[in-house]
Amino acid sequence: MDIPSSLLIGGKWLPAADGAEFKTYDPATGTPLGTVAEAGPSDVDAAVDAARTAFDDPAWRTMPPAARARLLWAVADLIEKYADELAELETCDQGQPIGIAKGLNVPLAAEMFRYYAGWCTKIEGSVSAVSIPGTMHYTRREPVGVCALITPWNLPLAIAAWKLAPALACGNTVILKPAEQTPLTTVFLARLCLEAGIPAGVVNCLTGGPEAGRALTEHDGVDKVSFTGSTEVGKLIVAAAARNLKRVSLELGGKAPSIVARDADIDAAVAGNLQGALLNSGQVCAAYTRFYVDHRRVDEFTEKIAAAASGLPLGPGLSPDTVMGPLVSQEQVERVAHYVRLGVEQGAELVTGGARPDGDLAGGYFFQPTVFSGVTDDMAIAREEIFGPVLSILSYEDPEELAPRANDTEYGLAACVWTKDLTTAHNLAATIRAGSVYVNMLPFLDPAAPWGGFGASGWGREMSGTAIDEFTETKGVWINLA
Ligand code: NAD
Repeated sequence: MDIPSSLLIGGKWLPAADGAEFKTYDPATGTPLGTVAEAGPSDVDAAVDAARTAFDDPAWRTMPPAARARLLWAVADLIEKYADELAELETCDQGQPIGIAKGLNVPLAAEMFRYYAGWCTKIEGSVSAVSIPGTMHYTRREPVGVCALITPWNLPLAIAAWKLAPALACGNTVILKPAEQTPLTTVFLARLCLEAGIPAGVVNCLTGGPEAGRALTEHDGVDKVSFTGSTEVGKLIVAAAARNLKRVSLELGGKAPSIVARDADIDAAVAGNLQGALLNSGQVCAAYTRFYVDHRRVDEFTEKIAAAASGLPLGPGLSPDTVMGPLVSQEQVERVAHYVRLGVEQGAELVTGGARPDGDLAGGYFFQPTVFSGVTDDMAIAREEIFGPVLSILSYEDPEELAPRANDTEYGLAACVWTKDLTTAHNLAATIRAGSVYVNMLPFLDPAAPWGGFGASGWGREMSGTAIDEFTETKGVWINLA
């Protein structure tokens, strides 16, 4: 299938109005992969107009929920039909191992559409128990309107899908704005939406950088922004949204603690934390990053996880032997290297990694899996989101320390507890401030489980029925029965 390099506006593939384009790179080699149109302000205006026209068009506005459900199901089928192409494209554009693209990213995208296809016919209002005599009151759930869906570069297809599927299930129209580093699979997804028969203008797609994102978030014709990305940009979006008080949902950064209790199965904790920390080269918002290990087990844990990390096969995502691929960009490599330097300067012990590999991999954006021990709560590597393959190991003496230390962060996206004791597990699950707490497992995602964070990790929840709340307005209707 040919991937259009242009913008999708009102059902037509168009170049940018001013002809601007930008390159996307293969992170495994640092060489250009393709060129795509770069949306400017007039393209943003055109896409918002197209989305508004489609929103007001009865073909979409009054489409029966069962018909919308069939369209979403058709998108899921098409994602599966093109699963291999989508996975390869994601690996080439983003760098993730092909096993992650095929086993996680693409199937999750298809499942999002299936799950929300089911919701289309279950978005219901209710009759309210009002006390004013001679009246009745009922509620309707109505779409919010034109939604800008702005996504990051770490799991491009799955994140686009987990916003797009509920937005469409509720009857909204959208403008997708993928990250400039990884536009290709989102463009592919937009094309599949057209192929599935979703009416022109319901799904628009603008490739471009922060300027296109900013123009969307400031646009008075946009009713809602659903954003996944950095906390810093999330704050800019809130400020921009104040112009017309558009609805905003935010999935932002994280710094997930992972607690290894005295009674934990250390081998399971090592294997789970290694994957939880290094999945997608650590470029996962829920990645386990700071490890609080019982002081009697910390040496054993450090030794085992460092040995496992240093033995991980690094390589291009398309190579079947690769367990860890490159980072997404040179900028990301520099960010990780900066934090490694800070870790050393602030007195942590570098146990393994800490540098770019040389040899065959020197041309790509690779970074070795890196483990620090002797980390303290005040160090930058324990506090700030690195978004790369860096594990910071801390220790604790008394379990009473755990919740306060885990909660001593602006973030609150995910956390993990490794223990065999139910009391420890439930007590920590209740006291750690995070949108998702995992017990003895990896940070899985499922369309049926709400996803989002406390504090600086964002506003609102995606996935599950809560995404339906995020993409609808509640209208009350009063009837005078007297
Ligand atoms: P980013 O915030 O730099 O960019 C995200 C998107 O926002 C891109 O499409 C970008 O073009 C756009 N953008 C940039 N400036 C903008 C502006 N002023 N107005 C509107 N849009 C703008 O984030 P990133 O570097 O692409 O992604 C990494 C971040 O995403 C990390 O902080 C990570 O934790 C977070 N993330 C969170 C989740 C989650 O579910 N909570 C999931 C994945 C990634």
